Amino acid sequence: MTGPADTPFEPLGTAPESVAIVGAGMAGLACATSLALDIPTVRVFERAMHAGGRMASYRARGFEFDAGTQYFTAHDELFCEALEGWLMEGVVQPWQGWVVEVDRGNFMSRDHMPRYVGTPNMGALARHLGELCEVRVGTEVMRLVPAEGGLRLIDRIGEDLGRYDLVVLALPPAAAARLVEPLSPTLAARVGGVQMTLCWTALLGFDQPLELPYDAAYVARSPLNWIARNSSKPRRAEREAWVLHATPEWTETRQDMEPEAVIQALLKAFEDATGQRPPKPRVRAARFWNEAMPLGGQDTPFLFDAGSRLGLCGDWCISPRLEGAFRSGWSLANFVLDGCG
Ligand SMILES: Cc1cc2nc3c(=O)[nH]c(=O)nc-3n(C[C@H](O)[C@H](O)[C@H](O)COP(=O)(O)OP(=O)(O)OC[C@H]3O[C@@H](n4cnc5c(N)ncnc54)[C@H](O)[C@@H]3O)c2cc1C
Repeated sequence: MTGPADTPFEPLGTAPESVAIVGAGMAGLACATSLALDIPTVRVFERAMHAGGRMASYRARGFEFDAGTQYFTAHDELFCEALEGWLMEGVVQPWQGWVVEVDRGNFMSRDHMPRYVGTPNMGALARHLGELCEVRVGTEVMRLVPAEGGLRLIDRIGEDLGRYDLVVLALPPAAAARLVEPLSPTLAARVGGVQMTLCWTALLGFDQPLELPYDAAYVARSPLNWIARNSSKPRRAEREAWVLHATPEWTETRQDMEPEAVIQALLKAFEDATGQRPPKPRVRAARFWNEAMPLGGQDTPFLFDAGSRLGLCGDWCISPRLEGAFRSGWSLANFVLDGCG
């Protein structure tokens, strides 16, 4: 097993003709779109009915919510280049919302760094990337079986999804560890050791705009760490929609709480944080993320095990952000392409 920094790359011997990618979040899609330029068969398998993973968005009765990724920033040169393309395609726009820090009714401006969002929702970026490669949704990969120098993928109902020279797992750590365990216990132990935070999220739609001058806030001394007026993002429905994220610590001790109780508790926290009592929401929902953000990185952009024909990537390798997931998937694709060149 190796990350590119520790030991030299063990070549595959022959260039892969076929690569299966499990997981259509940002890491899997970045990897797939890059590999698809040079490798004849690149196929992405996604458990959910849509690509995007934690770039999830919901609609309900005219309200729209980005429940996971709220916005993204761009630092790395390569990611900035990709961003330029997405801006030109119109699937991403800058978000000009006023972001503050709020502490029990008091607030101060936070910063003016450029923030970007998918348009008309975060999922739009995933849909755009999914059009540049082959994605099979509604397909949960349950097992990987060594076959003729490669790996076969088996789904939940035992269907054979085909044999591939190389398999990329672009999954959160626990899901990746389960698939890897029978093939490489060492690799499974390494990825399985990565801890992820939990996050309860409340999605609230109001009949009237709330009288808060800002559009989003990092929240101090509260069960909440982030609140955002989703309707302030570009090309969203105009109806007043707010997304509230609870802290990992608050969520940790309330994993089994009923969604309605979570909503009530987070509405109270919202009132305490902003100093304003919100009216009764017209639309309310709670979503529990059991693998929200990785705690600590792996100090390597990806993991690779030539012997098992496996590569692993995801935000847990580099940084717990959309940019980290992109860089991980893209770096793994380049590593495969370089090693086979
Ligand atoms: C609440 C929340 C808020 C966030 N806010 C921000 C933010 O503001 N800015 C930011 O930059 N980042 C944010 N993030 C982090 C960002 O969303 C992630 O870093 C990024 O989306 C991770 O992408 P990924 O491809 O590594 O993983 P994922 O998006 O988790 O993708 C993994 C995919 O694998 C699929 N899958 C799992 N098991 C299987 C299987 N067996 N077979 C097939 N498919 C499978 C899943 O359905 C999923 O689609 C936030 C995350 C959360 C949860």
